Amino acid sequence: AAFAYAPAPESRAVVDIAPSYGLFIDGEFTDSAAGGLRKTVSPATEEVLAEYTQAEAEDVDRAVKAARKAFGPWSALPGAERAKYLFRIARIVQERSRELAVLETLDNGKPIRETRDADLPLVAAHFFYYAGWADKLAYAGFGAAPQPLGVAAQVIPWNFPLMMLAWKIAPALATGNTVVLKPAETTPLSALFFADICRQAGLPRGVVNIVTGDGSTGASLVGHPGVDKVAFTGSTAVGKEIARTVAGTDKRLTLELGGKGANIVFEDAPLDQAIEGIVNGIFFNQGQVCCAGSRLLVQESVHDEVLDALKRRLTTLRVGDPLDKNTDVGAINSAEQLARITELAAAGEAEGAERWSPACELPSDGYWFAPTLFTGVTQAHRIAREEVFGPVLSVLTFRTQEEAVAKANNTPYGLSAGIWTEKGSRILKMANQLRAGVVWANTFNKFDPASPFGGYKESGFGREGGRHGLEAYLEHA
Ligand code: NAD
Repeated sequence: AAFAYAPAPESRAVVDIAPSYGLFIDGEFTDSAAGGLRKTVSPATEEVLAEYTQAEAEDVDRAVKAARKAFGPWSALPGAERAKYLFRIARIVQERSRELAVLETLDNGKPIRETRDADLPLVAAHFFYYAGWADKLAYAGFGAAPQPLGVAAQVIPWNFPLMMLAWKIAPALATGNTVVLKPAETTPLSALFFADICRQAGLPRGVVNIVTGDGSTGASLVGHPGVDKVAFTGSTAVGKEIARTVAGTDKRLTLELGGKGANIVFEDAPLDQAIEGIVNGIFFNQGQVCCAGSRLLVQESVHDEVLDALKRRLTTLRVGDPLDKNTDVGAINSAEQLARITELAAAGEAEGAERWSPACELPSDGYWFAPTLFTGVTQAHRIAREEVFGPVLSVLTFRTQEEAVAKANNTPYGLSAGIWTEKGSRILKMANQLRAGVVWANTFNKFDPASPFGGYKESGFGREGGRHGLEAYLEHA
């Protein structure tokens, strides 16, 4: 669609990306022992943003040893002292949030409106929140204070690079653990900038180490005998592999994996609000969200009305330059992810569901996929069962509340669900029946650092966020 006006995109000039990056080990950027470099590109243009280092097993070993050395003094600090560092990091993130938002948008492809208004504020909020816990762990009750576990190996995906980093690093540091973190191969830059923030905050050497690379780097890290705790966010397939690696060792494990969230709209739902929630549920971050509302369950009596309103709303979505402040839908993160989405959407058509997209011009370079709706979807269709991780919404119908619950739960995943209704009693009843770690009512994709987040079933185990998020990093004597 043509726009009435096109204001200047957010300036790239606010971020200074170096031509190449080393690994952040023991408080310094260093080269790899083997020296291999990879490239990271902007998914919106395919422009190479920078080169970064492929960490090999030897480098991972160095990072784990640095974290081990730092663990003694770091865990011995009074909680109030650790809190000071976390507060400092939170403030620097706030001060540098414009730069970090532009960087994240460049490396990931998501709209600046999201990185500026959602990702960065939540990253800072997470560090503030866990800073507040650091001095409240000891002597909170009778008996010995809880103990940190040691060295945490943290492996994160590309969809919320800096936010996933914050979810992992903030609770680990607050509880007195040290960290080796591996960002995803397509989005290493914000973690490398975060390394610089650690230096700026004066964080002691070795408390946070960043090793970049591909899945083999992640596998070396997770399998390293010097690691005490593994925290992983990513695909269910890799999560299962990590669970096998960790089985039979003394490592603690938490997994945050995929999802196939149901967004359930009843005939008494506030319609305008529900439409916004549906759109936010599946098109936020181009649907590359583990807790996306990728299955829309609509009560049969309002199916046509909801679909008409939804289609009208989708024609107003602005797809394009992620640095433009007016953009609603940005680029898909990688060619591989685009291929996966394209394949599953083709399967939806082949299996007989009806495909619809608003008219929109997609840029010729980069990785793009138009917002897409499938109607007439049944529970047997692949697009109803498999995680697409893209801007593709499958619409199913139901008649009764019981049927809605049964359909929502008919998935191996269990991360999120949304309920749209004016009936409070319905919300309370269904929240207990839905096998999902998060159930939103008359809203979707709302996050708060104080609120625990995590999966049932194949969406993983353990919780991040809130008081629960601390437990994953503590041993009770
Ligand atoms: P992925 O599992 O391929 O990769 C995630 C991370 O694991 C990357 O850093 C990758 O390099 C690393 N990795 C790959 N193979 C590894 C191995 N054998 N050992 C150790 N590390 C390895 O996932 P992805 O495609 O990057 O991310 C998308 C998936 O992540 C989706 O399925 C999505 O649902 C899930 N996800 C879940 C959550 C959550 O909180 N539950 C959040 C975001 C994303």
